[in-house]
Amino acid sequence: MIRSALKIGLAMALALAGVQAAAQLYEGARLIPGDGGGAIESSAFLVERGAITRLGKKGEVTAPADVPRVDLTGKTVMPTLISTHVHPGFQKGLSYGAGNYTREVILNDLNLALYYGVGVVMSQGIERGDLALHMRDEQAAGKLGGARLLVAGRGIGAPNAGPGAMAYKGIAYEVSTEEQIRQAVREQAARKVNAIKIWVDDRGGRAPSLSPELSAAAADEAKKHNLRVSAHVYYHRDAVGLAAAKVDSFAHLVRDAVMDEPLLVAVIRNRVFVMPNMGGGERNTHHTPPGWWSEPYLVGLLRDTASPEVIERMKGLFAPRDAKVMETVSRIYKNVHQNTRRLNEAGARIILGCDTGLPDHLFGYAEQRELELMASAGMTTMEIIVAATSRGAEYLQLADSGVLAPGKRADFLVLDANPLDDIRNTRRIARTFIKGVEIDRAALKASLLK
Ligand SMILES: [Zn+2]
Repeated sequence: MIRSALKIGLAMALALAGVQAAAQLYEGARLIPGDGGGAIESSAFLVERGAITRLGKKGEVTAPADVPRVDLTGKTVMPTLISTHVHPGFQKGLSYGAGNYTREVILNDLNLALYYGVGVVMSQGIERGDLALHMRDEQAAGKLGGARLLVAGRGIGAPNAGPGAMAYKGIAYEVSTEEQIRQAVREQAARKVNAIKIWVDDRGGRAPSLSPELSAAAADEAKKHNLRVSAHVYYHRDAVGLAAAKVDSFAHLVRDAVMDEPLLVAVIRNRVFVMPNMGGGERNTHHTPPGWWSEPYLVGLLRDTASPEVIERMKGLFAPRDAKVMETVSRIYKNVHQNTRRLNEAGARIILGCDTGLPDHLFGYAEQRELELMASAGMTTMEIIVAATSRGAEYLQLADSGVLAPGKRADFLVLDANPLDDIRNTRRIARTFIKGVEIDRAALKASLLK
């Protein structure tokens, strides 16, 4: 049993890491750089040792005759997606809970993400022990596949104000004083996490909210270690305090109200990155299966990656519920939708983040859905692509990722249709390359736990 699991693990690692071609020239695709610059029709780019070294129009980018050519005529190339708010390691098939938090399940989530075109994920603060950190380091050493994992470690909240579900119990720090929160940040920095997560929420009155003073102390302490602080937020009043406290990102949007003008101005002025996080709330607003559920390419990806039982349960969520509950969830979602629209119109730094990994909010699927919801809130396809690629990389301080340009990693998707025409075309993945190595998508699909 252990031996076969090891064997599968090794096979996957090899399938995903591949053998890197020294150099390859990709020609003919429409190329969307990811930084907001216009698409290059009939592009060419040279990849050497995992990085793009030259990029331009086909015919203008040259390479020695012995460099293999890859013809991508008719396809669209864009950077792999960057998802900044995930929680790997809790769902395995129909079961959800702390007992699933194993190497096998975390790797499965990373593989799922990659199958849907996500190249980087940031785990936001409910990681027990050092497992996720070890896996991140193994990936960096080229020993493990899947979407690249970044880790916020152990998140911080006021007593009883961390994530509430049983699966997450006992993970968050519970702090009440400035010294405690500074100490917590220092401990996480010493573990070499990639960011600091704080929860600022009274959890429906069950707990005190982390104060603006303590949030500011966390931001100040984190800055000393060059770490970003990401804040779970729910209430407008807390968001006002957090923007003033100079946290780096909102891991959710304000949900109890439509953001007022001074708050929008503070978010822009303090350069706060914001994750709309729309999908989890939106799916609660339907009492019959919505149109988006049966979009063929989304259905196809879901069938590739989830069991019929899980799919049936997901579909079962769209059922008649108590009128008062429906009224509440619809009002909350309306606020999130409206706040995304207002933030985008105001020029806020929106990034892709959707609390992936909550129950039946599956890796990759959640991201693909979120992109569509961003469009529904008025973001253009180009704005969405920027949010899901270069701006995510900027937030995660990944200088080599999120853009297709000389000097950057050759992490890209080859799509059968143009996502600038319809953002749902990001689902039409023909091929995926990580550091210039093609991922064996059939092997990846076969390896998934269902
Ligand atoms: Zn979360």
